[in-house]
Amino acid sequence: MTAAPEGWRARLETFLAAHAERPHLSGPAKLAWTKSWHAALADAGLAAPNWPREAGGLELGVADQVTYHRMMTEAGAPSHPTPISFIVAPTLIVHGTPAQRERYLRPLLRADELWCQGFSEPGAGSDLTSLTTRADREGDNYRINGQKVWTTGADRADWMFALVRTGPPGPGGAGITYLLIPMSAPGITVRPLRDLTGGTHFAEVFFDDVVVPAANRVGQEGEGWKIARTSLGHERTTAFLSTEYALRRQLRKVTALAVETGAIEDALVRQDLAKAEASLRVLAANASRALTELLGGGDPGPLSSMNRLVRAEFEQQLYRLATRVEGPDAALLGGRWVHGYLMTRASTIGAGTAEIQRNTIGEKVLGLPREPEAQLSTQEYA
Ligand SMILES: Cc1cc2nc3c(=O)[nH]c(=O)nc-3n(C[C@H](O)[C@H](O)[C@H](O)COP(=O)(O)OP(=O)(O)OC[C@H]3O[C@@H](n4cnc5c(N)ncnc54)[C@H](O)[C@@H]3O)c2cc1C
Repeated sequence: MTAAPEGWRARLETFLAAHAERPHLSGPAKLAWTKSWHAALADAGLAAPNWPREAGGLELGVADQVTYHRMMTEAGAPSHPTPISFIVAPTLIVHGTPAQRERYLRPLLRADELWCQGFSEPGAGSDLTSLTTRADREGDNYRINGQKVWTTGADRADWMFALVRTGPPGPGGAGITYLLIPMSAPGITVRPLRDLTGGTHFAEVFFDDVVVPAANRVGQEGEGWKIARTSLGHERTTAFLSTEYALRRQLRKVTALAVETGAIEDALVRQDLAKAEASLRVLAANASRALTELLGGGDPGPLSSMNRLVRAEFEQQLYRLATRVEGPDAALLGGRWVHGYLMTRASTIGAGTAEIQRNTIGEKVLGLPREPEAQLSTQEYA
């Protein structure tokens, strides 16, 4: 816990009041507006509540971080155009060189440069350590060949943070290296993939003899898996403590819809609303437990696994209920709830499937025996 910089609350309040306008935009115009909103937030020194001050953050203590996230949620602040940036940022803060921090953090915070995450491959998802995209060392460079898939925002990203194979596989994710790849590099092909909603939120990315400087490596060669794992948990800690507020707002809207359409008269709808309320209270209770853990200097990791699972299932439950409440009109009324219903099919897949979350809870929270790890044989690498 560090002392909060004097007056950050008042400064954030003033900023949010001065930037309260939310124009109805879409496509490139929306992206440009969101980027400028975040650039202004970063320029005001208010964009990163838990980063160290020398990296452009506010370095707030845990309780203040929660207040920060609540204030942003209540003000309806737009999300960063690539929230995934906040996975690579703490990695750079902890494992990057001073030159890397200087080069990448500010443009990331201002949303001048957008990032995508190149981890999953056609043959490596839950079992990520079996990834096969290769980066071969050639003097001061790496030459990359292979393919990534489901890469969110790859078609508009300036940079990818990627896990690549630089050595034979082995226990503990051996042979995996963390690289920063400019998406403009020759040899990269991005092929957008259409999802259930008809949108193209993610893409396949192909690497054909893509050359990047070895200076783009984060940490040591072969240490990428450890780096990715240790820094993943870091940023998740406090943001999830405030998700309850955004979700409560959604539940209120669905309840209002049920009243408006008369669906509330249906006992089964009332029962589903009560179940949603119960899930939300579980999320809130877990968030309080995690906060207590954090304030006591502990690790809320296992609790955040539970909350991620409950949240993913809550979102699916809520949108399913909303489409039921709207009835056949759901698809006609601008399709908002249907769109959310289709989008949230992915909530139990992306960033670790519900089954993998359950494995984590079983092993890390309940202390059940570990399942055997699947390993790629060294012959497959050669
Ligand atoms: C909307 C969306 C956005 C995404 N964005 C990105 C991105 O930006 N960057 C990126 O790198 N990846 C991204 N992904 C990919 C995501 O991380 C993977 O889909 C996820 O890790 C699962 O991997 P997979 O799809 O290969 O499924 P698999 O790992 O092949 O799993 C298939 C099924 O088997 C189950 N299963 C697998 N292993 C086990 C086990 N040990 N025990 C029990 N069940 C198991 C899974 O739960 C699942 O039901 C995104 C995915 C989605 C849906």
